[in-house]
Amino acid sequence: NRPRCHCGGDMKRNGTTSKGTTRWRCKACGASSIKRRPDVTNARIFADFIEHCTTTISLTALAKRNKVSHSTMKRRFTWCWLIDVPDPTVAH
Ligand SMILES: [Zn+2]
Repeated sequence: NRPRCHCGGDMKRNGTTSKGTTRWRCKACGASSIKRRPDVTNARIFADFIEHCTTTISLTALAKRNKVSHSTMKRRFTWCWLIDVPDPTVAH
């Protein structure tokens, strides 16, 4: 689950910042990034999204819990709405 560069190249570990965040460098174009595990962030956003869809928790309450504004929360969820819901009639 290493991050991927915007050019599509593999990133390799390139040290650690003073804050303990892993620094990454692209093997293809050399761009560096200190983004830490974007997959985990998306997983957390998606978990919040599922909670929002399947419970009565409001966008406002989720925004407050994540310490962001209502509109930021709404923007974070935009890609979640585009995921196809698996068809329950397919046996497997
Ligand atoms: Zn790159």
